[in-house]
Amino acid sequence: MKLRLLVIGAALAATATTVRAQAPAATPESLVAEAKRAAGRDHAGTFLRICVAPDNLNAAPRPPPPAGARAVPERATWYAAPYKVFDDLYFVGTLIHTAWALTTTEGIVVIDTLFDYAIEPEIVEGLTALGLDPRDIKYVLISHAHGDHDQGAALLQSRYGAKVVMGAADWDATLQRPATAAGGVPKRDIAVGPEGMKITLGGTTIDVIATPGHTRGTLSYIFPVHDGGRRLTVAYAGGTAFNFPREAQNFAIYRDSQKKLSEAARAAKATVLMSNHTEFDRAYDRARIAQLPRTAGEKHPYETDEATVQRYFEMGGLCAEAQRLSMGSAN
Ligand SMILES: [Zn+2]
Repeated sequence: MKLRLLVIGAALAATATTVRAQAPAATPESLVAEAKRAAGRDHAGTFLRICVAPDNLNAAPRPPPPAGARAVPERATWYAAPYKVFDDLYFVGTLIHTAWALTTTEGIVVIDTLFDYAIEPEIVEGLTALGLDPRDIKYVLISHAHGDHDQGAALLQSRYGAKVVMGAADWDATLQRPATAAGGVPKRDIAVGPEGMKITLGGTTIDVIATPGHTRGTLSYIFPVHDGGRRLTVAYAGGTAFNFPREAQNFAIYRDSQKKLSEAARAAKATVLMSNHTEFDRAYDRARIAQLPRTAGEKHPYETDEATVQRYFEMGGLCAEAQRLSMGSAN
């Protein structure tokens, strides 16, 4: 009997080896196809932006916007009303970019701060319209130092004394800006290194995870929200588009961060995926849908399941790896 089991075991091992040996090597095309399957209907917007038409495909990353005064886009193209979306999470973003206010018993955490022109109408006036007080903002979390997410940071820091949290590498980039930069330059505050950190306010803890890739200091978050008293866990992806220099190493860094965030989301059993662009998580639509009455058993519009959240990061990693392989790199 023992011998027979050994024989079967050996046969199974041999089969496994054969299967592995016959598996075709991954190609950029096969990875994109795999990423498309991972994206499904849920993550189609992000798949399009990083797998089908990545921003750095023609080697030249998007140039940074010019510093200093510039024209404010027509308000109708970006202004969005504020909404209470969860018991303790409020949408104060635009039609294009998200900003969130996470409320705790000891104050507010603002997650991302929009372009300078949007900070007053969306965040300051938005919070007030929702019955919240901007003076209660204790922390401002910046996912990464690009103007569409960080130009409001200096105002919230100087006016309300909020502590600004940013990845260490992105602080270095931010502090090189001229004083005339749109929105001003925040003073160096809390810098997050590769090990990440936890921020606790009033019993709510945000797990801040260093996920370099989109920028070297990109931060992502895992945090709880409540839906009618029921606790849900959010995985917030802090940087998405491939508008960094088109180098194999940069895609490897991005890919590895997706894996890291996916593991953190899995450990925390995250069932809500958020991003900082509405095209990636349909934030504006979901914020509005969240205002509608729900039928019995109907989920919150942001709630999915663990597998759907995992597929987002799987897709991101596969898209990055497809780009890296397409460069003919061996690393
Ligand atoms: Zn960015």
